[in-house]
Parts: sequence; structure tokens; C-alpha cells
Amino acid sequence: MVPERHYSMWVEPMRPERYEDKELVVSVPSAFHIDWIQEQLGAQIHEEMERVDPGCVFKLVLREEDDPEVLPIPEPTSDEGSPGPMPPSNRPTKRPSSGFTLRTPPMNPRYVFDTFVTGPSNQMATAAANRVAEDPGISYNPLFIYGSVGLGKTHLVQAIGHHVLQNRPGSRVQYETTEQFVTNVVQGIRHNSMELLRSAYRECDVLIIDDIQFIAGKEASQNEFFNTFNTLHDAQKAVVITSDKMPAEIPDLEERVRSRFGWGLVVDLKPPELETRLAILKKKAERDNIPFTDEVGSFIAQSVRSNVRELEGALIRVGAFSSLQHRPVTLDLAKEALKDLVKDRAQLTAELIIQKVAAYFDVKVSDLKGKSRTRHIARPRQIAMYLCRKLLNASYPEIGRAFGGKDHTTALNANKRIEALKGDADVAPHLDSLERSLSA
Ligand code: ADP
Ligand code: MG
Repeated sequence: MVPERHYSMWVEPMRPERYEDKELVVSVPSAFHIDWIQEQLGAQIHEEMERVDPGCVFKLVLREEDDPEVLPIPEPTSDEGSPGPMPPSNRPTKRPSSGFTLRTPPMNPRYVFDTFVTGPSNQMATAAANRVAEDPGISYNPLFIYGSVGLGKTHLVQAIGHHVLQNRPGSRVQYETTEQFVTNVVQGIRHNSMELLRSAYRECDVLIIDDIQFIAGKEASQNEFFNTFNTLHDAQKAVVITSDKMPAEIPDLEERVRSRFGWGLVVDLKPPELETRLAILKKKAERDNIPFTDEVGSFIAQSVRSNVRELEGALIRVGAFSSLQHRPVTLDLAKEALKDLVKDRAQLTAELIIQKVAAYFDVKVSDLKGKSRTRHIARPRQIAMYLCRKLLNASYPEIGRAFGGKDHTTALNANKRIEALKGDADVAPHLDSLERSLSA
């Protein structure tokens, strides 16, 4: 399985060229694609091909005629012309003087402030986003929003983009995932078009880079980001960044880049409280015409706590159950529809993680909760803390408490340490096997 965000980026551009003499030749737009696909999907593709045509080989080649990622965008022929595939608020409103425009992926037209439910968990972030949308470049520059997956980061930053486009005709908003940014840079280098790329970025009034954590370890992209950031910041253009971690926790990040993130405002999105979860469910049910009762809403909101995307998914599942089975939406139906989900949630706790990690490394639970700093205990403790953070989305103070009342900085440092080591040969297999056994 390929995650959705990878699919459009890496898999969709693959084009079969020929299939002869037991060789399947597939072209891709960049050398970067070749590396990525070989590294990430090579084994999977090989296995699949062995099944279909044993002995067949798979070859990736560069598609030379492809345009680089930076594309000239044709002038619209008439004002009344069809708005094309992008939502109107997302079309470039002026042709930059460099003659090049960065490819702008369409923003989700639903991701506006009106559809974003606020509560204590996201009040600060929403207020800051609002301020930036009203006064881009003046307030909080850059705005750095972090929080774990599914808490509304993309929604909130796209809301800024929509707001600016609507209220400041002629301004240019560039929304990009970090993967796109990285690809742009790699393409720019490959096609010797870095200067054009830079001037295109410099023409942005608002640059939004989503999920910056993916820039970790990518030196050329970090360097380019650094320069682009400085240029935009000097010109008082707004830069908005999201990440799943706070700046201090992003591994393999150049210090000068990390320090820039703190120049403006760093705010987090926390998992929504019960009332906010209920309000989100109500709004979504109304919008999508999903039958809903308060009782069912409470049940869903109690069952799914830490991820709004999953919360919405649970509601959709209940709606689908009711519609496909021609049954009214009741508490019983909701329980049935969500029984796997609820079972999983109920079982995993910090205590269970501590027990499993202790058993796995053959140390005592009391050691993990204790103070010993010897390596054979400290490392399993760090791993257990990291897993609490990752699998339970627990806050650092919560984790500290679960480990015998430790300070939140201990949990934070443990998490940071394992984040940095998680690819290493003496850590990765343990993490992998623990994670699998804990999610089983
Ligand atoms: P992230 O980028 O943090 O992973 P998204 O912005 O993709 O999360 O949000 C996941 C889903 O949850 C989206 O459908 C989004 O509209 C919805 N969502 C998140 N937070 C809220 C909120 N406070 N109000 C309404 N919808 C929300
Ligand atoms: Mg996102």
C-alpha cells in the first residue's frame, strides 16, 4: 500500500513505455523519482511482477521531454473563460514578471475558517492564523503551526490562503507540501533553473509550506528554504509553516533553519476536547447530511479522541452503515459500526506500553519507571516514552507521570533522542517489532 500523499507525488507520474523481452520500461519525470521509487517501492514492485510474469524485470527511465516542475502558465484567454480544474480562489491572479509560475496544487475549497470549529485546543492557533490572514507579512512572521496528524494543520493554513486570495485581489498565495518544495528544488537544480525558481518564490505574497518535518536531512532543500525564507521575510511577505513536531524536535535540521522558525510565532494544535469533538461532528453531519443524534455523537466523540480525521471517518462509517443496511442511526448501530475501532482504543495505554517494552527488553517495569541511567535501562525507557508519544499522542507531562512522576523534559528529550535514532540499525528493528505487537 502506498500512502495517499505519496501516490500523487510519486506513483501517478509513472508512465509505462514498453513491455517486451520480459522487460517493463516505465518512465518518470526526474532522477529523484527513480531513486525514490527504487528505494521505497522497489521490493514491492518486484514481488508483484514475479507474481504476474516470473523473471520479468522492471526498469525506470527518465522521461526527457517532461517539463520541469516550474512551468510557464499560459495567459488566460478571456476573463469569462472556464476556471479550469482549480477552484477560482486558487488560480494565480497575476502573471509573475519572471514569466514562470510555480505549480500550485489546488487547495481544498472546504478548508476555510468558517468550517473550522474552534475550542480551547486550537484557539491560539486559530487566532494567530486569522491574524496572519488579515495582515499577511505584518503579524507573526513566520507562523509555525505544529501538532500531530489529523488535527487540522492543513485545514488552518489553507484557510489563511483562501482568506488572503479573497480579500486581497491580485496577491499571490503559494501553498505547497514540503515534498513538492523538495521536488521543485531538485528539478530546479537538474534543469539549471534555480534562478527562475527563486524568482518565482520571491513573487509570493504568502508562502505556505505544509509538513516541513519532511525537509529533515535534505541539505539542498534546507539551503534553498533558508534563502527563500530570508528573501520573503525581508520583503515582509508572509511565510506559514506546519509540522508534526515543534522546531526543537525536528531531527536533522540545520540550526540556522530551525532558528528562523522561532522568529515569529510558534503555536500548537492539541487534540480537541470532548465539546469540540462534538461540535466538529455536528457540523460535519449537517454539511454532509448524515443522520445524527446527540447520543450517537457523544458515543463517537468518546471513542475517537486524538485525531479529527479519524473522528470524521467514524461518523462517515456510521452514516454508511445506516444507509447501506437501511437502518436508522442509533447507539446500537454506531457501536456495531465502530466496534473494531473502539476495541483498539480501549486497550492501548501507557501502562501497557511500559509492560510490553519491559518484557521485550527483559527489564523490570519498576526499572523503566525508576531513575537508573544505565544504558540497558535508559534506552528501553526512551523507547517506551517515544511509543507513548507516537501511539497514544500523549502529552509530555502525561508521559512523565506514567513513568513514575518524571519531569516533562525527560519525556521530551527521550522522544527527541529516539526520533533521531529511529533509522539506526540497533534501534529500528526493535521499534518496528514493538510497534507491530502493540498495534496488533
Ligand atoms: P493535519 O494537516 O493536521 O494532518 P488536516 O488539516 O488534514 O490535519 O485535518 C484532517 C481533517 O480534519 C480535515 O478534514 C479537516 O477539515 C478536519 N478538521 C481538523 N480540525 C478541524 C476543526 N477544528 N474543525 C473542523 N474540521 C477539522
Ligand atoms: Mg496536513
